[in-house]
Amino acid sequence: MADLHVHTVFSSDSSIPPKKLVDMLLAHPFIKAVAVTDHNTVKGYFKVRDLASVYQDLLVIPGVEVSTTEGDVLLLGVAEVPPQPWTVENVIDFTRSRGGLVVAAHPYRIYGLGDSARKYPIDAVEVLNGGCPRQLNLLAEKLAKTMGLPGVAGSDAHSIDELWTAYTEIQASMDLDDVLKAIKQSFVKVFHAGKSIHF
Ligand SMILES: [Zn+2]
Repeated sequence: MADLHVHTVFSSDSSIPPKKLVDMLLAHPFIKAVAVTDHNTVKGYFKVRDLASVYQDLLVIPGVEVSTTEGDVLLLGVAEVPPQPWTVENVIDFTRSRGGLVVAAHPYRIYGLGDSARKYPIDAVEVLNGGCPRQLNLLAEKLAKTMGLPGVAGSDAHSIDELWTAYTEIQASMDLDDVLKAIKQSFVKVFHAGKSIHF
């Protein structure tokens, strides 16, 4: 189980210290993987990765939430910030060249791609975002279905109490390449507040 959207203090609007994130992950009964997706920086990812590296049963997925000119996208499996300008095309090309995945973050919330996500060869849609009201998540779910793309979930936590409100079951081993491949192939199921939604 993985929370695929978490911000640390390296995002100016988040209060989650990397050490606390690792402690929370260690303490959680079944969420053992997290994608650190700070705004336009990967510093938080490296910090969390270093702190978690002594624990074999945790997986820290490199990521970044890029504020593109058309809305936020999550890059998973990428430990670098793409060069500017951050158009959706540029960011997708960059991510592809590094073997990562591009996810439309909270597409129907403010700063989301909205329907313009349909124009781009993205890899997945965030269909459950812990910070989105149900209606907006349902619209995201429809978008994923229309585009024939996997739906993923993440809390979008900016404070400790927001962690794990939405998470993804990924049918893969605790190996980054395996995890990315499984997401791409839709071997995923999303959960919110204990309920599951099947895709
Ligand atoms: Zn976010």
